[in-house]
Amino acid sequence: MNIPLLDLKAQYSQIREEVQAAINEVMESQHFILGPKVQELEEAIASYSQTKYALGVSSGTDALLLALMALEVGKDDIVITTPYSFFATAGCVARLGAIPKFVDIDEKTFNIDPEQLKTMLNSLTPDEHKRLKAVIPVHLFGQMADMEKILPICQEHNVPIIEDAAQAIGSECLLNGQVKRAGSIGAIGCFSFFPSKNLGGIGDGGMVVTNDPVLYEKMKIMRVHGSSPKYYHKFIGGNFRLDAIQAAVLLVKLQYLDTWTAQRQQHAKAYRTLLENNASVQLPPCIHDETNAPKHHHIYNQFCIRTEKRDELKNHLQENGIATEIYYPLPLHMQECFRYLGHRKGDFPKTEKAAATSLALPVFPELTKAQMEETVKVIHQFTS
Ligand SMILES: *Cc1c(COP(=O)(O)O)cnc(C)c1O
Repeated sequence: MNIPLLDLKAQYSQIREEVQAAINEVMESQHFILGPKVQELEEAIASYSQTKYALGVSSGTDALLLALMALEVGKDDIVITTPYSFFATAGCVARLGAIPKFVDIDEKTFNIDPEQLKTMLNSLTPDEHKRLKAVIPVHLFGQMADMEKILPICQEHNVPIIEDAAQAIGSECLLNGQVKRAGSIGAIGCFSFFPSKNLGGIGDGGMVVTNDPVLYEKMKIMRVHGSSPKYYHKFIGGNFRLDAIQAAVLLVKLQYLDTWTAQRQQHAKAYRTLLENNASVQLPPCIHDETNAPKHHHIYNQFCIRTEKRDELKNHLQENGIATEIYYPLPLHMQECFRYLGHRKGDFPKTEKAAATSLALPVFPELTKAQMEETVKVIHQFTS
């Protein structure tokens, strides 16, 4: 049985007519960049993420870049983040000439460890503290970082939070007893509509969300090269615009997002039961007790197990036609382009362990019970 990691064709076949009608509407309008469709999507995403404002941008990477630019991150500034993420999280910081400072993950959650974040913040010299411009927690694989602990720590140090919610649209956590959605807690939240994300476009796209009217206005201007009015440039921005055709397709898909999320959650639950008794496999961490967790506390952009013989298991699954993926094989502090930061192996042991043992299994909404059972059967075969 051939089982892909993600089956976008299966998804498309369910919504083909609606998507094609939406694309046709844009074609007939010949209005391709920003405009009413993008605005409609912005309003829908702001509402979905429980924020006041949203701005459609060219990608998740550009969402992060725009957020950092709006917070005036520049040369020699410091931004704290996790070394266990997609490259863009730290790449955007470095592109602006700032220094990414890493804090190891909590192995229970895969997300930045609040205790170590606190230690890092308290250990900054007064000069470093002056250059500290932001903290970027990443809600990795669809589960939010421990914002209940991170928020007060950052408030105490008066440093704004940018939430990298590229993998976590709609995911929820509890904050002071209230259910909060990814992107709504920090100064700015960033989403990606890369096709493999839970809400994926038909190309690149992203969104920034905020509750701050000043940051909103600034990012809106920066999105169009900092020009306001047109051809008069207040800031140095960039071309961070979203296309109308992406917005039109995303508006169609947004209607299905909760259903797809519920399907991913059902698959995760089924995997947990099927893999429960396999001592060689560690199930994905969950910070919340499922019984009193918010409904969307984990949206399973990825379902990552951990196992010692990870590479061998991946090969065994591949030989049996089952696709898996490693997120991410090389932690950010070990990347060649960051050699100048002076890190070495062993600096962030929890991250390095996760990178060496984690394996993402297929968890896409259209996955069938038979496909899941087959996947687990092949895993059991290998580990027994
Ligand atoms: C996908 C992703 C990004 C970048 O988004 P793009 O739309 O691909 O530019 C940033 N951070 C994380 C954690 C991601 O998963």
